[in-house]
Amino acid sequence: MISCKALLPAYGIISSFQVLLRHRSMSTLSYVQRIKLLQALKEDDDKIVKVRESGRVLPFVAKKPLISMPEMGQTAQTLRWISFSDLQRLYPSEDLASRSILLNLADTGQACFTADLPGGASVAAAAQAALGGKFVDPRAALFLLPWEEACTMSHAFSMLHWRETTNFCPGCGAELRSRPAGHAKNCPSCDTVQYPMTSPVGITMITDAAQTRALLVRQGRHPPGMYSCVAGFLEPGETIESCIRREVAEEVGIDLDEVGYMGSQHWPFNGGQLMVGCYGRTEQTQLDIDTEELEDARWFSAEEILEAYKRIQNNPMARIRNETQKGELWVPPRGTIANRMIKTWLTDCGLLPR
Ligand SMILES: [Zn+2]
Repeated sequence: MISCKALLPAYGIISSFQVLLRHRSMSTLSYVQRIKLLQALKEDDDKIVKVRESGRVLPFVAKKPLISMPEMGQTAQTLRWISFSDLQRLYPSEDLASRSILLNLADTGQACFTADLPGGASVAAAAQAALGGKFVDPRAALFLLPWEEACTMSHAFSMLHWRETTNFCPGCGAELRSRPAGHAKNCPSCDTVQYPMTSPVGITMITDAAQTRALLVRQGRHPPGMYSCVAGFLEPGETIESCIRREVAEEVGIDLDEVGYMGSQHWPFNGGQLMVGCYGRTEQTQLDIDTEELEDARWFSAEEILEAYKRIQNNPMARIRNETQKGELWVPPRGTIANRMIKTWLTDCGLLPR
């Protein structure tokens, strides 16, 4: 564990912090202090080595994060963090420093990393026995974990994926070199820096003017019975609102009367996406479905959607365990922005408590 007292003098940004810290517990950093320290740490290649030694790591094996299963009296899974020194002791022949990526700082000042451990399923079983917890499918982890921990898992998954798949400079083709913090890569040939990219996606909760029905769509790749919100990638030159209006026009033939922002979520799969959630309202309810993109699109009553929402909340593993019944409507599980948007709409309709 590293204290903020030990960290602060290292970065030349101490004057304002010293004033702040007189009035704060020395064991807790404010949000702004953490962000400024993190920013400085990413640029200090020597200091990262020192903070890593006293840091903690969220391990992955074969793209699966390590999760602590609930103990007696607990209801939720949590991320399983291991001290860097303990992890290195377990893998003495591995260079875990080069496998680790800096994620953030805890409010105590301790640096938090992720690292992909070598090996496959057999190694995972041995690592689980040694570390405690379980390596779980990252999609399952998103709805098993509390929202903030799911965001951390999403961040870690994306950083590891980016490091594994981005090896050459897009400008000159030279091999990139990872920075010690792992958050960026340098091109030694043209002296550029590469950072992870995230693609914006617009996703829409479409409702009728009376707010009694919502439009959900189903793609061929969706599990049986599942319907979700219309979604599509932002194209160059578009605002998120124009992206939403275009996608809705393309996929279901509707011209929205009103589009507004609801919230966003990082989605780590398919290269990393920022899901920008919007509501869309329309008086036009006649559909013209693009059958190349969609298998089906339907207006559902608020009561039908409430029933489906409760079903997935009560049994988020149902679809994975094939416990769904034929003909039942399913909506995306907890941990997805579509689930949050549906919950918000049902709450606004007065069908769920605030
Ligand atoms: Zn280059």
